[in-house]
Amino acid sequence: MATETQPELNNASDAAAKTDAIAKDIHVEAERLDQSRIPRPEGVNANSKVLWSYIIPVTLFHLLIPLAFIPYFFSWWGLLFLPIGNYIFTSMGIGAGYHRLLTHRGFDCPKWFEYTLATLGVCSFQDSPARWVLVHRVHHQHSDHQPDPHTPNVSGYWSHMGWMFVDNTDLSTASAYDKYVRDLMRDKYYMWLQRGFNWVGVYAAHALLFLAVGFGLAFVFAPENVTRFTAQFFFWTVIMRTVYTWHVTWAINSAAHMWGYRNYETREDSRNNWLFALLTNGEGWHNNHHADPRSARHGHRWWEVDVTYLSLAALQKVGIVKNLVGPNTSALNRKAI
Ligand SMILES: [Zn+2]
Ligand SMILES: [Zn+2]
Repeated sequence: MATETQPELNNASDAAAKTDAIAKDIHVEAERLDQSRIPRPEGVNANSKVLWSYIIPVTLFHLLIPLAFIPYFFSWWGLLFLPIGNYIFTSMGIGAGYHRLLTHRGFDCPKWFEYTLATLGVCSFQDSPARWVLVHRVHHQHSDHQPDPHTPNVSGYWSHMGWMFVDNTDLSTASAYDKYVRDLMRDKYYMWLQRGFNWVGVYAAHALLFLAVGFGLAFVFAPENVTRFTAQFFFWTVIMRTVYTWHVTWAINSAAHMWGYRNYETREDSRNNWLFALLTNGEGWHNNHHADPRSARHGHRWWEVDVTYLSLAALQKVGIVKNLVGPNTSALNRKAI
C-alpha cells in the first residue's frame, strides 16, 4: 500500500485549501433511506428543457453499434482494444482524473499531469471536467436523497442515463458552478474547456487523430484494403470504445447503487459491485468509496482489485503522483458492517 497521508491544509495554497474544503464538504447529511422511491430532483420539472445536445450524440453513437456484427466492421483486435482503451481513457481520465483527483483531491501531481488526465477524461466524451465534478459533488452530498442528480431511487433508467437528457437547474446555474466547482472555474484550462462546448471540440479532434492514425496504419497492416482497415480502426477505437466506457461508467451511478454488497454502513445505498469494479478498474467498489470519498484507494479488502489505485501508487513510486490519500482506517472501522 502506498503512503497514506492526508494533505496538510496549513501548508496548502489558498486555492488548494478551498478545494480541499469543497472536496471534504460533500458528505451526505441526511439519514439513510430504505430503498423508497423518490421523485426526480426538484431542479427538474415538466417544463424543464430537453437537452438535445446530449440526446442526439448518445443516440447516434448507439445507432452505430450494430455495425460491430457486420463482418466488414467486426475485428478481433478491435474487440481486444476495448479494455485497453477503457483503461487509458476512462480509468486514467475519468477514474483517476475527473473522479479521484479533480472531485475528491485524493492525490497531488504536477499541473501537466493533471491536465493530461483531465484531457483523457474529455476524450471519454463524458462532459467537461467542471460539469462532471459538479454533478459528482452534488451526488456525494445528497446520495440517494433529494436532490441527488442520478439516484436509482427515481428509477434504474434515470440513474443510468435518463438524468443527462433533461436540464436540472441544480446543476446548470452559475450559482451551482460557484458553489460546487469554484476551484475548477478559476483554472484557465477548465474554464476554456467549459466555454462554448470547447470540450466537444477536443473530443472531435482526438477522434480525427484516431482516424488519421488508422489511415496511416492501414498502409502497414492492410495495404490491400486501406478503406476497410481505417473504418474498422475508427469504429473500434473511437465509437465502440466511447459507448463501452459510457455504460461501464454510468453503471456506477445505477448498478453500484442497486446491486452488490456493503462493507460499510453509509447513509446511502451504495454497493460494491464486483462486475463493474473489474470493468472500470476499481470504480465499482462504490460502497467503500462512499464510506471514505477522499481515499484514492477504492478497493479496501485484499481481493478488491483496484487497478486505478495500483496505477497511481506506481506513479507515486516514480515521483509523478504525491500524497496519495489512502483509506482512513479508524473512521472506516466505525462504519464497518
Ligand atoms: Zn454513488
Ligand atoms: Zn466520488
